[in-house]
Amino acid sequence: MEALYSLCDRFSEFSVSSQWRSLLDLYLLIEKETTSFQQTYGVACPPGCGTCCEHFVPELTELEASMIGAYLLFVKQDPSVLARLDAYEASSGTCPLYNPDSPYHCTVYPVRGMICRLFGACPSEDKFGNPIFRKCKYNTDVQSPVLLDAKDFGTGAAVVTTMRKLSVQFSALEPLAATLPIADAVMRSLSRLQFIAAHMGSDSHDDDNGGSDPLVPTPTPLAS
Ligand code: SF4
Ligand code: SF4
Repeated sequence: MEALYSLCDRFSEFSVSSQWRSLLDLYLLIEKETTSFQQTYGVACPPGCGTCCEHFVPELTELEASMIGAYLLFVKQDPSVLARLDAYEASSGTCPLYNPDSPYHCTVYPVRGMICRLFGACPSEDKFGNPIFRKCKYNTDVQSPVLLDAKDFGTGAAVVTTMRKLSVQFSALEPLAATLPIADAVMRSLSRLQFIAAHMGSDSHDDDNGGSDPLVPTPTPLAS
């Protein structure tokens, strides 16, 4: 995380820097809450499991994608990952950032998106607004509970209330944000980041871009 906060400092002249910082702060809180949930209710993923990433292509907001793009370009600096994203075939059904050969599987683990942090690791709400948790169908850990519901969580369970608050905070970071499949979202962010990197430390980006900050997510217009 230190390298990521340093990255925010490096980009401090651009407004996205403070958005990245808020996103990272939120990711830390989510980590704390999901860990606490898993410990309290005995939920665990088997060591080395990454089957969800093999059968899932996450969608990301523009801000999440730019955080991943910045991590790939300026922290990880692994051209093979960029090449894999570029060549990605959406029909594969596997996340392009999944690496079956790594014990950790996720190539961008420190900056993975919100959905990846929550999947299999926290309760959601049923259609009546009651807390519910179902064990991931790939989870072979026999100690993990298969189902937890309102009778297990109790009224006003802290973890549920906290996760709801964190979801609201996440939505507030990018109101009306649209999402894109991860490869498209990250590739789009990379071209913006490369543009910015080429103009770091000069004022020329203002002139080239009509005075606007190219890393600020453009609000999505409301459908009329
Ligand atoms: S970004 Fe990482 S955690 Fe999320 S689906 Fe892809 S490989 Fe899995
Ligand atoms: S959420 Fe399911 S598939 Fe993903 S790592 Fe955990 S047990 Fe494996």
